[in-house]
Amino acid sequence: MDPRGFPTTLPEFQRVFPTDQACATYLEKLRWPDQFVCAKCKQMGEPYRFAARPQVLRCRACRADTSLTRGTVMDHTHTPLSVWFWAAYLQTTQTPGESATQFQRQLGLTRYETAYQIMHKLRAGMVRPNRDEIGGEHAVELDETLVGGKTKGGAGVHHKVYVIGAVECRQRKAGEAIADGAELRETRPKHRRATYAGRVRLLVASDRQASTCEDFARSNLVRGTVIKTDGWQGYNALGSMGYAHAPVVLRGDSDLADAHLPLIHLVFSLIKTWLAGTHHGVSIKHLQAYCNEYTFRFNRRFYPMTSFNSLLGLGAKTIPPTYEGLYSGGWHHPAAQRQSPQLEMPFQ
Ligand SMILES: [Zn+2]
Repeated sequence: MDPRGFPTTLPEFQRVFPTDQACATYLEKLRWPDQFVCAKCKQMGEPYRFAARPQVLRCRACRADTSLTRGTVMDHTHTPLSVWFWAAYLQTTQTPGESATQFQRQLGLTRYETAYQIMHKLRAGMVRPNRDEIGGEHAVELDETLVGGKTKGGAGVHHKVYVIGAVECRQRKAGEAIADGAELRETRPKHRRATYAGRVRLLVASDRQASTCEDFARSNLVRGTVIKTDGWQGYNALGSMGYAHAPVVLRGDSDLADAHLPLIHLVFSLIKTWLAGTHHGVSIKHLQAYCNEYTFRFNRRFYPMTSFNSLLGLGAKTIPPTYEGLYSGGWHHPAAQRQSPQLEMPFQ
């Protein structure tokens, strides 16, 4: 079990959400941490429950029904809640994501369309625009890479495009545990072991022009951020744009490049492996969508429960119950901690 209370294995997940009723209980706890309140007559108290329809609660006073899935991606669904929960779990935890075909097979769903629609709705929650700028107190590595060029069985990427990427270099504070993403820590130079990748931004671009990179920086990076780049002249304007530009002249020296820009190189290499291995190459018109999906999962890898809830369309600011609390039935909403900065989902 993950210290943050999120199931890390399939058996654990199965134990936390064994039935549709368990999923319904989870939704109910998120919405009414203390006690059910009827939306219609505002009466508080224990509602009527129906074994055959766990997603519905009925007020004992006015007999109005309240749907637990209202306002979520599961609204008006005929698919059992447990199937949705599995889908969101697999999308959240599997680095390569989940295809509709895989999902249909794994859950034993009769219709492909059901699997496809679930995946489609969950994925829609991943492609939200990146509103927040990254960087600020954290230095950022900025670079671009060529993606594509290979054709596999006629279905691969036929042309190369640029992916411009930026990633935060975060410093681990003393005693701070980084549970996931161990592979993203820089381990070579001993004194830099406390550095790890923070949030990432990726943009597919058809060219490598200074103006493209400048636009990318302007819309993604907080003004004043220290930006590490290679010595390419296309970055020369960053200083006059209000950034603390830290270029290094690499002259094709790849060791030097990796030492100066280790994290963004790692991100590029991971995403290329992911694209090649999982999707067998993707067409350029879908590449930005895949980059968005990658970004979503990457930026939330320390917050899997947030990611899980966010995919299901559950309240983003809601603090989910811990595994222990949920499993034992003793979970109480930590309302007093609502303002805790740690839980404010910094990786939006
Ligand atoms: Zn009522």
